Amino acid sequence: MPTGKIRAVLAGPKIRSRSLRATSHGSATTCDSSHHHHHHHRARIEIRITNHYAAKTYTTHAPITGVAVLSVPRDTPFDRIAIQLAGFAATRNYMTPEIDQVLHHFLLLDMPPPPPGTALPPRDHVLRAGQTYALPFHFVVPERLPIGSCGHRCEHASVREHHLRLPPTTGAWGDRDDGSPETARVQYCVSVAVLQQSAYVGEEPVCVLRGHHEVRVLPVYPEDAPLDIEHGAGQKWPEYKLAASKTLRKSLVARKLGVLSVEAAQPSVVLLSSDARQASSARIALTLRFTPARSVQGAADEEASLPTVHSISAKLVAKTFYNTSHMGAFPDRPCRHELNFGASMHYSDSRRTADVPFTWAAGGWQRHHKQVDQPTAWAATVEAAFQLPADHKRILLPSFHSCLLSRIYILRLALSLGPGHGSVTLSLPLQVIVQGDLSVPRHLVGPERGDVGVALPSYMDHLFLQNRFDDEMNTHMPLAVGIII
Ligand SMILES: [Zn+2]
Repeated sequence: MPTGKIRAVLAGPKIRSRSLRATSHGSATTCDSSHHHHHHHRARIEIRITNHYAAKTYTTHAPITGVAVLSVPRDTPFDRIAIQLAGFAATRNYMTPEIDQVLHHFLLLDMPPPPPGTALPPRDHVLRAGQTYALPFHFVVPERLPIGSCGHRCEHASVREHHLRLPPTTGAWGDRDDGSPETARVQYCVSVAVLQQSAYVGEEPVCVLRGHHEVRVLPVYPEDAPLDIEHGAGQKWPEYKLAASKTLRKSLVARKLGVLSVEAAQPSVVLLSSDARQASSARIALTLRFTPARSVQGAADEEASLPTVHSISAKLVAKTFYNTSHMGAFPDRPCRHELNFGASMHYSDSRRTADVPFTWAAGGWQRHHKQVDQPTAWAATVEAAFQLPADHKRILLPSFHSCLLSRIYILRLALSLGPGHGSVTLSLPLQVIVQGDLSVPRHLVGPERGDVGVALPSYMDHLFLQNRFDDEMNTHMPLAVGIII
């Protein structure tokens, strides 16, 4: 099974009671198998990560280094000890209860065995009772996923390019709420498995001992170009609205004063600190245009009719799109729907609303040239900054698109305008990225093969772990509240 395979896990009679969501420290278990049934009640795998602490986040190019400490209660022959950095996404659709959840193992970095001549692991391939073995490991959070992790049809090359970025840890931040539904998550862990060759030819190896240690990943992405949002006829952008206009009156029954249009520039990216504890503000620039009604005649009348902006309120909407099959198109953009099978589910978190202070550009309303038989047009620019909230209770994830789930942000603005306090609303796309340097020289990211007895990991498919990870990481995700289909 290739790394990128997405597969459905059918709900079976077996009871899955353990949850990786609750496991933030290393833990070890023996593995059940239909061929062998070992009981290693005192067998231990302890995964110690250097400089790790509970709230630690790992960003692109960050090293994940440490040792796996093994001990067994009786002599245990083995074929191979696999140490891996694994990443998977899981989604669930509560409308199809026969499918427990869909898993996508997008990352499986395999730590190669130590070079010959080193003592570990034991070369006679037997772990001895009473002895303790410390196996070093060294991973670097990669910038990209292996090509094979997205092997499905994509609408554009840019969709695939996004799918081959690491998604951030989602739905697994402990006490910090990242605004995602419980039916979609992304997790990473360091996994150690002691494998025995099966007694049957052609069978996969059997896991006799396994441990894992979860790590939280917040990757760095490049800044995306602004979206090519077109307005007017055939407008098919469901999420975003950069311009709106409104006919203003003094009151509901009064005569028209004129037409006001508001157009927003796409905000520049918001930068998150690499621990996601601080976020920069989103800068908002609005262009207002006002065309007085023909009934408003004379310069003095016109100037008296120029509308004012009473307030601007902003709401940050965090929207998670997810599906139980591959999403071959960006879910927030016009697309050919056959690439996203069935409707994507989405979940919005929009509890963040604030009144935004704003300033008028110098001069306020400016008169544009008057042409013969054309009404006068006036224009003004308003600028504002929206501070994205980040605190110890909530975490902002970077915007991302991956095979099974996407996170986008929409900045929803409501302007209160003119004598009637009418409102105009806009929805702006907002890209959130983690601050960092993607051009880290290779020699800074880790020792080369053989340098200090620790080889750099390589991408590998490992059949056994592919299949058995399900037992380890499966959780019964409770039905999410507030899902909108
Ligand atoms: Zn994909």
